[in-house]
Amino acid sequence: MNFFPASFPRGGQAAKSAVLVLAGVAARARQRLAGQGSVLAFHGLRAEATPVGVQDSSLHLPVGTFRALCQHLAAHYHVMPLVEMATLLQAGQALPPRAVALSFDDGYASNYHLAYPLLREFHLPATIFLTTGFLDGTSPLWFQQVDLALSSQQPTASSASLGETLAELKALPDARMREKVQSWVKDLPPSPAPAVTQPLSWDQVREMQASGLIHFGGHTHTHPILARCTPEQQREEIFTCRRRILAELGQAPRIFAFPNGGSGDFTPETLALLAEAGFESAWTMVSGRATPASPCLSLPRYGAPESVWELEATVSGAFELLRQWKGGRA
Ligand SMILES: [Zn+2]
Repeated sequence: MNFFPASFPRGGQAAKSAVLVLAGVAARARQRLAGQGSVLAFHGLRAEATPVGVQDSSLHLPVGTFRALCQHLAAHYHVMPLVEMATLLQAGQALPPRAVALSFDDGYASNYHLAYPLLREFHLPATIFLTTGFLDGTSPLWFQQVDLALSSQQPTASSASLGETLAELKALPDARMREKVQSWVKDLPPSPAPAVTQPLSWDQVREMQASGLIHFGGHTHTHPILARCTPEQQREEIFTCRRRILAELGQAPRIFAFPNGGSGDFTPETLALLAEAGFESAWTMVSGRATPASPCLSLPRYGAPESVWELEATVSGAFELLRQWKGGRA
């Protein structure tokens, strides 16, 4: 336990996690849930000293925190490529003890500048799910545009907070949502985009691919919530994404992550299209353990932990065991 900070965290998720770890629940969970896997979903990282430049920085973990997470995982867990974990699960095989996989959604430049050096230093494989239109420069991420519009006090026909605005937009049909966002950003004054909003370049992607440490999957072409799209749009998003990755990397992607990733954010048509496009596994943002019983086109992932305590309570299965105990009592 020498990787844990000397001081006990005050309040919040970190304190709850620390209680579980120190009470021995993490150790017990590792035994009880052996053969299952934990997959973590990150987005971007940010350099601590630099102002973020967007209202919502929660998608971009401070790089110092990410270093601490990598150090803990390298010392205590078996971090494996996500595609290998998916193959074992599909074959109905138990995973190696303490199996963890790392993933990053969207395709931010910080994955290359800040995460990749640490992943190399600690020899940790990871998968980056690419929104191909974001990398192509043809399709800025719509939720970043909303953030920038609100940050620059563009009229958004609403005085709601960013979180409320995003929630309202996510409930709309995709085409209607795009119209609204476009009407807010069309008069934005030109200004340099904040560093955290920059996409990876395809050259950076190819360099990471050549290392053998980083793998790539699909995350649509323009990041819609697929359940808000017509069947034709869904097909276009999934097949364009596959085609662009194949063209740039010379290999078709085998794994996919759903934008937004809730259980209501994709439909049976989405799963049929993914299978038709040759995707072997698809990953949600629904929390849970990956087991051989998990459906291979809607596998669970955990959101990024924000401390080593939270990491340990998540990947050990302590949170999961707690949920099972609560469920048992209910
Ligand atoms: Zn995403």
